[in-house]
Amino acid sequence: MLRLNDILDRVQQYNPDADLDIIKKAYVYSAKVHQGQMRKSGEPYLIHPLEVAGILTQLKLDEASIVTGLLHDTIEDTLTTMDDITDLFGAEVAQLVDGVTKLSQLSANVSQEEKQAENFRKMIVAMARDIRVILVKLADRSHNMRTLEHMIPEKQKRIAQETLDIYAPLANRLGIGWIKQDLEDLSFKYLRPTDYQDLHERVEKKKKASEKYIEEVQAILRAKLAENNLSCLQVQGRFKNLYSIYKKMRAGGIEFDQIHDVIAFRLIMKSMPACYEALGLVHTLWKPLPGRFKDYIAIPKPNMYQSLHTTVIGPFGDRLEVQIRTDEMHRIAEEGIAAHWAYKEGRASGAGDDAKKFAWLRQLMEWVRGLKDPKEFLDAFKGDLFTDEIYVFTPANDVKSLPVGATPVDFAYAIHSDIGDRCVGAKVDGKIVPLRYKLKNGDTVEVMTSPNSHPSKDWLSFVKTSRALARIRGYIKEQQREQSLELGRNLTERELKRFNVSLNKLIKTGDFKKTAEALGYRTEEALLVAVGYGKVLPTQILAKHVPPEKLADKEAVGVPRPAEQEEGAFTKIINKVTNRSAKSGVRINGIDDALVIFGRCCGPVPGDPIIGFITRGRGITVHTASCDKVLATDPNRRIEVTWDVKPDFTRPVTLRIMTTDRAGMIADISTAFSQKGVSIVQANCRVTTDDRAVNTFEVKISNLKQLDELKNAIERIPGVIEVMRS
Ligand code: MN
Repeated sequence: MLRLNDILDRVQQYNPDADLDIIKKAYVYSAKVHQGQMRKSGEPYLIHPLEVAGILTQLKLDEASIVTGLLHDTIEDTLTTMDDITDLFGAEVAQLVDGVTKLSQLSANVSQEEKQAENFRKMIVAMARDIRVILVKLADRSHNMRTLEHMIPEKQKRIAQETLDIYAPLANRLGIGWIKQDLEDLSFKYLRPTDYQDLHERVEKKKKASEKYIEEVQAILRAKLAENNLSCLQVQGRFKNLYSIYKKMRAGGIEFDQIHDVIAFRLIMKSMPACYEALGLVHTLWKPLPGRFKDYIAIPKPNMYQSLHTTVIGPFGDRLEVQIRTDEMHRIAEEGIAAHWAYKEGRASGAGDDAKKFAWLRQLMEWVRGLKDPKEFLDAFKGDLFTDEIYVFTPANDVKSLPVGATPVDFAYAIHSDIGDRCVGAKVDGKIVPLRYKLKNGDTVEVMTSPNSHPSKDWLSFVKTSRALARIRGYIKEQQREQSLELGRNLTERELKRFNVSLNKLIKTGDFKKTAEALGYRTEEALLVAVGYGKVLPTQILAKHVPPEKLADKEAVGVPRPAEQEEGAFTKIINKVTNRSAKSGVRINGIDDALVIFGRCCGPVPGDPIIGFITRGRGITVHTASCDKVLATDPNRRIEVTWDVKPDFTRPVTLRIMTTDRAGMIADISTAFSQKGVSIVQANCRVTTDDRAVNTFEVKISNLKQLDELKNAIERIPGVIEVMRS
């Protein structure tokens, strides 16, 4: 049984300056108020808070968290009040205890959602402010799962299901591997007792039978590393947790005996380059299975997990999974957020350095928010405990609920369409923020408006609510219609004028209306809009109003070639149809920041000669001048475009790099990228059967010169066979 002294010892070990007195005081207090209470197991209640605090010391958390662990049930289950906690242990602990208490209250009253709405909002805000609330709650749930046998079966199932649905994914999201595995295996045990028992026995049997095999594989790995003077901190051979094996069996519809990689071998290396070297050695030792190599070092998982994974055909012809990582990466894989906590705390200049601690907390929340897919993260917080909504306040303290990722623009439209349409800026908690700022729980938002302002197309890239999207799209559509009308009118007028026909006269006589109807449009205006969109060519209109023999006289019809343009007129038109605020990096006829789409076929980068193509209805696409696709099109619809880029402008480029399959290759290529200052968006490395590797990298390229230099640098790496831009 865990004792207070065990907890104090552990805390002192990882934090020699810790304030042990407050932990002792919390223990004494908890013992006093829980006096006489029993757990379902018949043990004194105090054991539970003590064990929870024990789990928190395994996560190496600070004193406030440990104290919260000891006190977490006092509000709920004893006569203790929040004021008592504040008086005795201070505001920080009180806030944490409050946060944990509210989480419990909420999960206990699932049916009273309405009543709990206000409480819920407060809770979310409290939690967003301090992640330790979640960590204490996870420790609480871990101990409850370990003692679940004392509950009635119905309750066991309900709690186990909730744990599997919410708490295990949460531990996974926070990167705390061991808690996630514990929670999964325990939930599995209560939800599917027969399957659990069966699998448990099989794995135990296999563990005994595999002892020798594991030792042999470890010995081969050690020898290979030593032979190459590569020092390795640890070679592990472990069975995966039961629930993950069970999930594999279920997913593949297969039996336990058919699962190949129930054992994971793990190499813990001294440095990151050593990981890649070790990977190379593993691949020379045993043949890798194509498509099974994953580089989570170059591209970490959202929960910060880093490791190299590969599956090879092992020494006995069976599949073998090897994970390679540094000891720091290993620690993060096991402890996740808690590891970062302890790590930063250890580096703080002194104990009780609140500013640093809170700076770190803020950083942590930034990290949580900065996850690539916040929806994925919040999906883990499902059920009644968490939602994917945030709650923000108006200056008058009204609450607005918005989806995660919502911006001040969403907020403005949530208040009133007119406020959305006219919004030019926003203040959050009194500070000016960009319109694309992602609102956080508890923010107080004030929208600044200007009577002459309009929705911008840029907003579409960041708004989250359907209300805002619909309003902005509606406005843009209307605006595009007006612009297209003007462009269509100008183009038609100019073409007709070349044959001394006046558009205005045609409209007055009603002839133009007939043309519109003949071409399938209800009104003259609709036809002109269609010309502006590129759906109808001016030549089609000319054909109705100019005799064919006259038309033949002048060969150049349709949109004039750039060289023949009367400068000014066309510029004005283009100016109208393009969105000047977009940072496209392309200039059309002297108009900077013209709104264009880059051809996916040729993917131009600054420095490539380019040409524009007027599409039917989708604006102007930009291709390289030599692109086959554009050369096959109507020359009359081409238009001169030039690069006009800002210093931070980049274009995505995909490079296919064919190499021999040698150790350290990927590390060398990655180094080349970073030396040229090129960031990798996506990477995919695949070893083909003939000892070749095909590596695809999507990178951000500033210009052609940088791309050429990068290609040269990669081509110089030994073992690189070909570098292709695709
Ligand atoms: Mn508890």
